[in-house]
Amino acid sequence: MPEVRLIDANALFNDLKESANAAREWREEAQDEETEIRAEQAHGTFVECALRVKNAPTIETEPVRHGRWIYADVLDYKDPNGVIHVHGMCSRCRLIYDFRNMTSRFRFCPNCGARMDGGADNG
Ligand SMILES: [Zn+2]
Repeated sequence: MPEVRLIDANALFNDLKESANAAREWREEAQDEETEIRAEQAHGTFVECALRVKNAPTIETEPVRHGRWIYADVLDYKDPNGVIHVHGMCSRCRLIYDFRNMTSRFRFCPNCGARMDGGADNG
């Protein structure tokens, strides 16, 4: 699927509406039939485009939540099998996760889905 680009559909609708109004004024001021016909076609095209924007399907999006792993060294230990248990707590939902021998941490919290990049709104 191609990348989705989020735009302000209301702003685009208003822009097309202004263009439709401008084309209508152009038609009203037309001095000859050919100009009147071209202005009418332009007006119809802008109206059609504005209606398509207004009726375009929407998609559901969720705002990206950011968090970071807070390491709780006091909980870490090595079990009898030699497995090292490193614990990290999600800064957003406070889930404490045992990473065991994992050398890389999750990029997203497995509980709340926060992106663990320590972004602007990390908890
Ligand atoms: Zn979380």
